[in-house]
Amino acid sequence: MFDPKEIRKDFPIFERVINGKPMVYLDSTATTQKPKQMLKVVGEYYRNYNANIHRGIYAISEEATAAYEVAREKVAKFINASDPKSVVFTRGTTESINLVASSWGRANLKPGDEILLTVMEHHSNLVPWHLISKETGAVLKFIPLTQEGTLDLTDLSNLLTKRTKILSLTHASNVLGTINPVEDLTRKAHQVGAIVIIDGAQSVPHQPVDVQAIDCDFIAFSGHKMLGPTGIGVLYGRPEIFETMPPYHGGGEMIVEVFLDRSTYRGLPGRFEAGTPNISGAIGLGAAVDYLQALGMKNVRKHEQELAAYALDALKNLDDITIYGAAKERGGVISFNLPAAHPHDVAQILDQEGVAIRAGHHCAQPLMRWLDVAATVRASMYVYSTTDDIDHLVAALRKVKEVFAGVLN
Ligand code: PMP
Repeated sequence: MFDPKEIRKDFPIFERVINGKPMVYLDSTATTQKPKQMLKVVGEYYRNYNANIHRGIYAISEEATAAYEVAREKVAKFINASDPKSVVFTRGTTESINLVASSWGRANLKPGDEILLTVMEHHSNLVPWHLISKETGAVLKFIPLTQEGTLDLTDLSNLLTKRTKILSLTHASNVLGTINPVEDLTRKAHQVGAIVIIDGAQSVPHQPVDVQAIDCDFIAFSGHKMLGPTGIGVLYGRPEIFETMPPYHGGGEMIVEVFLDRSTYRGLPGRFEAGTPNISGAIGLGAAVDYLQALGMKNVRKHEQELAAYALDALKNLDDITIYGAAKERGGVISFNLPAAHPHDVAQILDQEGVAIRAGHHCAQPLMRWLDVAATVRASMYVYSTTDDIDHLVAALRKVKEVFAGVLN
């Protein structure tokens, strides 16, 4: 039985009281809270077998190396990657996308080549492409959106052509909640010979994701958004492509031989893990994956679908609210605005009620422009979120409306 009230007991942070009220945390899209099982595993590493990995020929270094590599295997299994070597640990989604853009982009892109993105991307799937297009002369194209906040694919055959070398898109929007049809788009991109990069920051933590079923060439995601530590993330790559790519960072661990004037490099995954990696982060991510797998990702998805439906119904009862995004396939992220109230003011009043939500552009300024707003309020949920959280949110929003009623009248 999936019971968020039971799940919450694993998260020590929910014992906190904020402004005299129990903490209501509805900002899991930004980062998730951490279960004691994950915290214990990280603590055990530092207490019992803290050592650098891969090079020490002594007991605790061997233990740390084994734990780090077991974490890689757990992550590979979690996304159904055929080979753990195709899983590279990075600092997070942002670094993962920068790695592909720099390494694959520099080696393969020429002037006039096209990179196809979408209007709903997070800055971390836009700015790396700005940088690489400037360097290589590749041209950026964008899939527009419908009024419902889904991808508008009516003109796809003109956007996705033989000139397209890369399709890079988010699996799930961190603003609209929209879940994109990545399997279908991957198939179409492969038909024109493009590679496909999926920003999985908001999908891998929230639903079953199978890289072989999607058939994508790369997927990027972040540990801290799936109950794991900050500073650890993943780049999965299709081995045939990943293996051929030049290094991204140079340094220790990623080499075979180094001379004063040149060096040769290891294969996967070491080639892309220069320097001492985030050992505790990887081990903690492995524990987070264990936790999620015990819950079952289908159950996680079902819980968020039900809670999002509950929240949408409750929010719609507040007259005059504008909710952004009406996709049928959606996750537990809801962006909205109240008339006259700036999102930052809403956030501040909610904070006084103990409710943590986010207000701002959510690192998606082009999407804000498309929505024709400067900012939105965003409530986002996860495994520990309950209908009580939503009820608190709605009650607190009623207080916001009272405060701003004077402004409107
Ligand atoms: N993509 C999406 C869709 C996101 O929601 C985020 C985080 N808000 C990122 C990328 C960037 O993730 P990180 O900051 O962990 O690198």
